[in-house]
Amino acid sequence: MPSEQPIGSPRYPPVPHALTSAFVRDQLALRARSVNTQPERRTGEFVLYWMQSTQRFADNWALRFATREANRLGLPLIIHQGLDPTYEHASDRIHSFILHNARELAQRAERGGLRYQFVLRRRRNDDRRAVDRVAARAALVVTDDFPTAGIAERTQRFAARCACRVVAVESHAIVPAALFVKEEWAARTLRPKVMANLLHALEPVADALPREDASEALWRSLEVDRLDLSGDLAGEIARCEIDHSVPPVPLKSGRRAALARLRKFCDDALPRYDERRSDPADPDGSSRLSPYLHFGQVSAAEVARAAIAAVGRPGAERFLDELVTWRELALNFALRNLNFRSLAALPDWVHRTMAAHAQDAREVVYTREQLERAETHHPLWNAAQRELVATGSIHNVMRMYWGKSVLTWTATYDDALQHLIHLNDKWALDGRDPSSYGGIQWCFGKFDRPWGERPVWGTIRSMSLERAYKKFDALSYQRRWNGEESGL
Ligand SMILES: Cc1cc2nc3c(=O)[nH]c(=O)nc-3n(C[C@H](O)[C@H](O)[C@H](O)COP(=O)(O)OP(=O)(O)OC[C@H]3O[C@@H](n4cnc5c(N)ncnc54)[C@H](O)[C@@H]3O)c2cc1C
Repeated sequence: MPSEQPIGSPRYPPVPHALTSAFVRDQLALRARSVNTQPERRTGEFVLYWMQSTQRFADNWALRFATREANRLGLPLIIHQGLDPTYEHASDRIHSFILHNARELAQRAERGGLRYQFVLRRRRNDDRRAVDRVAARAALVVTDDFPTAGIAERTQRFAARCACRVVAVESHAIVPAALFVKEEWAARTLRPKVMANLLHALEPVADALPREDASEALWRSLEVDRLDLSGDLAGEIARCEIDHSVPPVPLKSGRRAALARLRKFCDDALPRYDERRSDPADPDGSSRLSPYLHFGQVSAAEVARAAIAAVGRPGAERFLDELVTWRELALNFALRNLNFRSLAALPDWVHRTMAAHAQDAREVVYTREQLERAETHHPLWNAAQRELVATGSIHNVMRMYWGKSVLTWTATYDDALQHLIHLNDKWALDGRDPSSYGGIQWCFGKFDRPWGERPVWGTIRSMSLERAYKKFDALSYQRRWNGEESGL
């Protein structure tokens, strides 16, 4: 039953639900799904939570499910996280963000009485599948349900070879993604449905430790090579067989940094978010929380509650539209359309217009390498690419110009899509996320409608870098990222 208390009222948030409550049971019924058909292992010594995309202990539905299952079975809970050199675009940038958060998790686990371990596989030929060895002694395995970054495929492969029950739990969305079984057409079709459920889904839960603690003997007997996270993480990363040409970014990783950023955003920028978010020369006009959200260091529900507590629901509406409607539209897309990384995901009208304009002369054609090195004729585009390489992100408005421009600078639409996915997944700290593919495909007409016909664009909505100079202080943005390079 939805809460009767309006969000933003002095009584919001309501009293948190207990982990044993009907609210939590109902949420988990929507969020959890079995990935194989194996039974629970009767001789299992613990419940294993294999942490993948939700890299936090608070507001984590998979951890809640695992804790409830551990209590039901009277078993302790072990939390395992691993990092391999084999994921797509494995780099110092991504490794560093994950490892520094893991260090904080280890400290929290130590203080909070949770059993958390981290295993780093440094080289491709090193012994692999530490999780399999731990899972071999588990009654059941709980993991995160996440459609991108290779996690769905990894989970599927693991579940196929695991001899006990494997359950994947979705914690990415505020409103459980399972409520929307079909692919949504546009923000306008999803918006009323997610917004009607938002109030209920935001009700807080009082997380609790599992009743049984793992004995020291059990903990020591798990034969995996645990990483000492208090050690030299940069040195560990240097020893990994990954792409060292993509360096870490200055952005501090971890929940503490995420919550500090959230607080600052709610105090400073949120009251004028609608206006400030549209100015790329104002780097703090939006939350810049996407890397923390992508790695699950903070939950979207925590962000939404903080925003509503700061300015009330009406004041937060514009921000919630991005955080909930657009973010969950992207999740729905990645879950319900297996072609989310290909042009095949686009609607029929886009295919018709692309076919009609495939042979149009392109003003210029760039290779992927030229784009990656920011070697185009346009200083504003180069500035956005340089921001991406330097910081792991591009301002939201510039991200649209960045994506749309490439559509007209390649021989085929497919080249454009693949270049964008490559650049974004490789350099963006929030890359490989459902919102990555939702955002990039939006540049090609996904979630949109036909506009006026133009060369190369066809009826896809066009965006011109020249016009950007009239809309915001593009010269300041450009100077900031290009150094001394002057305007057009
Ligand atoms: C070409 C292109 C590529 C993109 N790639 C990514 C990506 O790799 N990862 C990513 O998280 N987002 C991506 N987006 C969506 C959007 O640009 C970013 O989410 C946003 O700029 C992040 O900045 P912020 O955290 O300050 O957002 P805020 O404005 O503060 O919004 C809060 C949160 O809402 C979500 N959000 C905001 N806008 C969108 C949107 N349009 N679609 C989906 N979710 C949204 C994000 O999680 C964001 O952190 C892309 C958009 C485009 C056009």
